[in-house]
Amino acid sequence: MIALAHAFRVHGHELYLVGGWVRDALLGRPHVDCDFSTDAPPEETLGILRRFTDTVWSQGMRFGTVGGEVDGISFEITTFRSESYKPDSRHPEVSFVGDVVADLSRRDFTVNAMAVRLPEREAIDPFGGRGHLRERLLVTPIAPEASFLDDPLRMLRAFRFMSQLEFSVDPAVEGAIADLKDHLTTVSAERIRDELVRLLAGPAPAHALERAEATGLAGLFLPELSALKLEQDPVHRHKDVFRHTLAVIERTDPLRELRLAALLHDIGKPRTRRIGPEGVSFHHHEVVGAQMAKTRLTALRFPNDVVDTVSEVIRLHHRFHTYRLGWTDSAVRRYVRDAGPLLPLLNALVRADCTTRNPAKARHLAARMDELEGRIIELAAKEELAKMRPELDGHEVMELLGAPPGPVVGEALAFLLELRLDEGQIGKEEARRRLLEWARIRATPTPPGEGSASG
Ligand code: ATP
Ligand code: MG
Repeated sequence: MIALAHAFRVHGHELYLVGGWVRDALLGRPHVDCDFSTDAPPEETLGILRRFTDTVWSQGMRFGTVGGEVDGISFEITTFRSESYKPDSRHPEVSFVGDVVADLSRRDFTVNAMAVRLPEREAIDPFGGRGHLRERLLVTPIAPEASFLDDPLRMLRAFRFMSQLEFSVDPAVEGAIADLKDHLTTVSAERIRDELVRLLAGPAPAHALERAEATGLAGLFLPELSALKLEQDPVHRHKDVFRHTLAVIERTDPLRELRLAALLHDIGKPRTRRIGPEGVSFHHHEVVGAQMAKTRLTALRFPNDVVDTVSEVIRLHHRFHTYRLGWTDSAVRRYVRDAGPLLPLLNALVRADCTTRNPAKARHLAARMDELEGRIIELAAKEELAKMRPELDGHEVMELLGAPPGPVVGEALAFLLELRLDEGQIGKEEARRRLLEWARIRATPTPPGEGSASG
């Protein structure tokens, strides 16, 4: 990389490491990809890069980006850019002008707006990113209103970094998000989806979602979340579904489908809530919720397999609670059959779904889940064994040995089953040969002092 920087220098150009790599290096977090900025126009960057490696990507050149890989590290080099919008067009006019400070000023947050000039490793931090990194604070390099009007996705990125880095959002920035949230509607569903996925994958998704909801931003791409804030009925109290949902998300491992299922698992509750003589109920909320999840995830342009998986896990998540009287073999079999390959995901969601503060109740639910998982393993083993049959049946054994029904046939079948378990399928032919051999040895009396019977 230093050699690459020297090559840029020799050609009269500058090369800077920028963005997430610099931030994560200062935080001591790993960051795989490198982003560079340069004043060299894309064609020249391509020329310099080609002398270093055959692995070069030029599809992004129109936007000023050339990608490559050197020493197993993949990176993108982007020409300093100032985007200006013509009043009559939604498409940015890309012009390659400016310097590193101008380039950093159009980045989302000051902690992402630091650079390192190579090869001398000179730190460039015009917006106080290092200080904000120490304070764990997300602040925009320019006025937040101007930044968010340039690219409204940055509002969602604030909450994504809040979850991912466990930082807070500066109050002025949060205020601007509350004011300008409606501009998010101009952003494509795909870009929103990608930031939502990153938000959910972080270590602090609950707090980030809570703030995204409070500013009203979440309502623009996930109105189902705000709807979970059901009024608490003073007589028929039930748990706060919004708080519960946030807690369930944080109890799951950060897997995309699992966290999405946790996020959406109870969205059918507001629509199915009924208050009857026996109190509050949410009949079939899992079926309604599965359908709502399908609609929402499709609108957010999630791939079909993700939509189907998440929606199916939500549809099945309540099943566990309907077996109050214990698990019959057929109930276990049906649960396993219906979950199919989603079983691990479903069980993980059901375990996380227990957010009661009553320790006795929590222990009871966990024990029931342990029991179910134990039963699943037991039953699978039993049914696997049942599939294991000797390769010859009773009739074939009697015919081969010329024996009438009786204990010998039973012993022969037991021998064949052992054979099947020890050696797997050996074929009928071989099984017959081995059975005859067994019968011969069995007919020969064991001389004293040999064999294992009286050892
Ligand atoms: P990570 O890769 O860990 O998700 P990152 O900071 O590298 O974090 P990317 O989305 O990969 O995030 O973007 C790389 C850099 O590009 C950011 O650090 C930021 O400086 C800049 N950037 C990306 N998207 C935007 C945007 N929408 N507005 C302004 N700057 C952005
Ligand atoms: Mg990155």
